[in-house]
Amino acid sequence: MELNAGLNGIMVIVAAFVGGACIGSFINATAMRTVAEKKWWGNERSVCDTCGHELCARDLVPILSYSLLGGKCRYCGAKIGIRHFAAEIISGLLTAALAVRWGPSLALALSLVILWLSLFNSMTDMENGFIYDVPAVALGIVGLGLRLAGGWPAVLEGILGAALGFGFIALIILIKPGGMGWGDAMLMIGIGGAVGWKYCIFCLYFGFLIGGIVILPLMLKKKLKRKDAVPLGPFLAIGSLLTLFTGNVLVSRFAALIGSYPGWPWG
Ligand SMILES: [Zn+2]
Repeated sequence: MELNAGLNGIMVIVAAFVGGACIGSFINATAMRTVAEKKWWGNERSVCDTCGHELCARDLVPILSYSLLGGKCRYCGAKIGIRHFAAEIISGLLTAALAVRWGPSLALALSLVILWLSLFNSMTDMENGFIYDVPAVALGIVGLGLRLAGGWPAVLEGILGAALGFGFIALIILIKPGGMGWGDAMLMIGIGGAVGWKYCIFCLYFGFLIGGIVILPLMLKKKLKRKDAVPLGPFLAIGSLLTLFTGNVLVSRFAALIGSYPGWPWG
């Protein structure tokens, strides 16, 4: 029995990794098409970024194709952008880790929506410094929709989260224009709406902490000027994912301030 349970667990983790990697591949492709203002669907075939050769199924297997081809195009030998591989492996690993963290539950469904949509937003933000409103707000809408399963208190927690996320970034933009963009505020509407207000506090905290740790040294070395636009979306996304793993411990640490219940569906 125990051996079977262990085997089943491993198979679920492997399936989550493979499924997550495939979705990461799809997210990467749609993010690139969005930035290039191409259609997501229809006759658009996947092609090599360099030579434009149409790619076939064996070129498009997540993680494996990139690894077997040594990160080079089969047809022209040009380097394939690491972003393809990175999106697949990050999505695969985090999907599996979240599946382990939450098990089959609404918390897992909400976590995966957060992972995949914030990955999309991070990729467009890193490519052209732009967080698109539609996928950012979609995260909030899907998040609030899932919250309906927890009743109105759960929806209210999400609305407060969206307001907190948006309000906090909007305040920074108003106090010190130029540092952050409205795209970041829109992204936090989505993340806050999905995680609820208590988790949202820690998403913001981690996002700014990690952003600061990465950006400050670059500024000190003068590689980055004060006025340079820095994509903050990826840091907010990393902060949110850290919160999904550590949020319950953090909420209990600060229970005296915010109560010990971490909010639906995390409790
Ligand atoms: Zn090529």
